[in-house]
Amino acid sequence: MTVRFGRSPEAAAAAIFPPDFTGARERFLALAARAELPVKTYENPNKGPMGERLATDIALQGDPSARKLLVTISGTHGIEGFCGSGCQADWLMESARADLPADIAIVHVHALNPYGFAWLRRVTEEGVDLNRNFYDFTKPLPENPGYDILADALVPASLSPEVVAEAEARIATFRNQRGRNALQRARSGGQYKHPTGMFYGGTRPTWSRETLERIVADYGLEARARVAVLDYHTGLGPYGYGELIADHDPGTPSLATAIEWYGEGVTVPLLGTSSSVPKHGTVGTSFWQPRFGARVVYAALEYGTFSTDLGRGPMREDHVLHARGPVDWTAPETQRIKRSLRRHFFPDTQTWRELVLFRSRQVLGQALAGLAGATT
Ligand SMILES: [Zn+2]
Repeated sequence: MTVRFGRSPEAAAAAIFPPDFTGARERFLALAARAELPVKTYENPNKGPMGERLATDIALQGDPSARKLLVTISGTHGIEGFCGSGCQADWLMESARADLPADIAIVHVHALNPYGFAWLRRVTEEGVDLNRNFYDFTKPLPENPGYDILADALVPASLSPEVVAEAEARIATFRNQRGRNALQRARSGGQYKHPTGMFYGGTRPTWSRETLERIVADYGLEARARVAVLDYHTGLGPYGYGELIADHDPGTPSLATAIEWYGEGVTVPLLGTSSSVPKHGTVGTSFWQPRFGARVVYAALEYGTFSTDLGRGPMREDHVLHARGPVDWTAPETQRIKRSLRRHFFPDTQTWRELVLFRSRQVLGQALAGLAGATT
């Protein structure tokens, strides 16, 4: 399918990205209303830092009974939703009224983790990394001995310069002794022991996981012949590049289909080709793949920002801030930490945003073309 856009990525990039969670939500709902798309809202029981209502919203584009579905998801990692919401708005602005290929519909899932989006965090209200939370909690929890060693260096008790310097020295020693890949696996592979730590997978399903399960049931996804999922993320890889990470096991039909649709640039954590290391409890291999088998093609569209070394400081500060208890939102320290974390996951430049939109349009077109050509 060839998708035609009225506005160039350059023009759209200057206007389409949201200022905050509420602005993102209002724009998504307004664009869906303009195109008369049916919307369903899943209210989150919490409030934003300024008392805002929090919710995950769904807009359905196309024939509700289509046998093939494209699912776009923004805000799995809260603060990364600035990018994903902007890409969804770009699509809705340009193509919400477009005729989709026969037998295809699109389910746009806006802000799957609205709490993290509004509070400018990667994690959910439970302090959990949603993309480590799809673990089968009837089984023993995964171990991550590397994280255990580094737990209080990644998230120390205080942010005093001496404590942070010592923490960085310990991380450097770990990296020098075991290598950069081992550090990345320890840090971000997922851990289930340190509730205020980074990349914590939790001990039970979060509100956001349960909401995704409700969406799958409410939209009858399991009855569809084909489902393509595009899950927008930021923070890994080269600045502005949108890496398609197929979170499927090597050798699966889903992975073969992902490469057929999206091309040889598709990467796979378990094959060592991705900027992402293999992780526990991810939504691709622990939720979509087991439930949908060969019918699903799941890919994270992961946009690079800055190096993970540069991200460690803002993430550490954010975790220490929230580990102390209720956060004083307007305090200068809170605002400084949130500004630097937001910039890490959502660079404030026209260049980055143009790259993001160009790639998003390209990949959405490839997904629709793949679905259109798929025999069911
Ligand atoms: Zn992410």
